[in-house]
Amino acid sequence: MTSLFLFFIGVTIGSFLNVLIDRLPNDEPITGRSHCDYCKKKIAWYDLIPIISFILLKGKCRYCHKKLSFQYPLVEFLTGIVFLGFMIYDSRFVNSSIFNLKSISTLGILSCLIVIFFSDFKYHLISDYILLALFVFSILFRLPSISHLAFYLVSGLMVAGPIYLIYDLSKERAMGLGDVYLSAIIGFLVGWKAGYLALYISFVTGAFFGILLIFLKNKKMKSKIAFGPFLVVGLITAMFFGDKILSLIRF
Ligand SMILES: [Zn+2]
Repeated sequence: MTSLFLFFIGVTIGSFLNVLIDRLPNDEPITGRSHCDYCKKKIAWYDLIPIISFILLKGKCRYCHKKLSFQYPLVEFLTGIVFLGFMIYDSRFVNSSIFNLKSISTLGILSCLIVIFFSDFKYHLISDYILLALFVFSILFRLPSISHLAFYLVSGLMVAGPIYLIYDLSKERAMGLGDVYLSAIIGFLVGWKAGYLALYISFVTGAFFGILLIFLKNKKMKSKIAFGPFLVVGLITAMFFGDKILSLIRF
């Protein structure tokens, strides 16, 4: 029962994340009813039910019948699955209250990461607002270990260092300032060891994706890949599996 409830909360939050993904990078206000990208007609409340409306409308606008972006149901479903996955990962969660600081801040962090993943992929921009939200959730996450605050702050600087160098040396071509801030938060969240692991995973998955695109001869897309989505993949891996992976590696 709890899992179904959490899945629906995730799906509903995913619907809001869709709004953030598209409006934050374009400096649009995040309040106000959604409208169709093509005919600009306001979408009725009964057409805004996550996932279900998309299926009932067969993925088309009710008015102009243009195809709706598959991003909407995808992000809604993904957020539901992420919330559900977190509950399964954190098995204590089922028996104890959902409303504890660690769980709420982790779900907040994951929601911010979903926004960063999709908006950076789509618009090549990580909004300062979402970075700020991610940082606030990260501070909440770190509150229980506040006595080690200095360690996590230094870790943030250590992990952001190499990304800042790439940003600076490539004159913003390879990385943006958003990537630098994001990697600082990665270090702050997981410490420098798991932080470097996150960077390593980001570079490996990024390179793999780049090579894949060369093989697919999609040169146009290759020059347009943002790095943020790979940082998100690296961070999530380090957050949930970092301890296990690091215990396999000897320094
Ligand atoms: Zn329309």
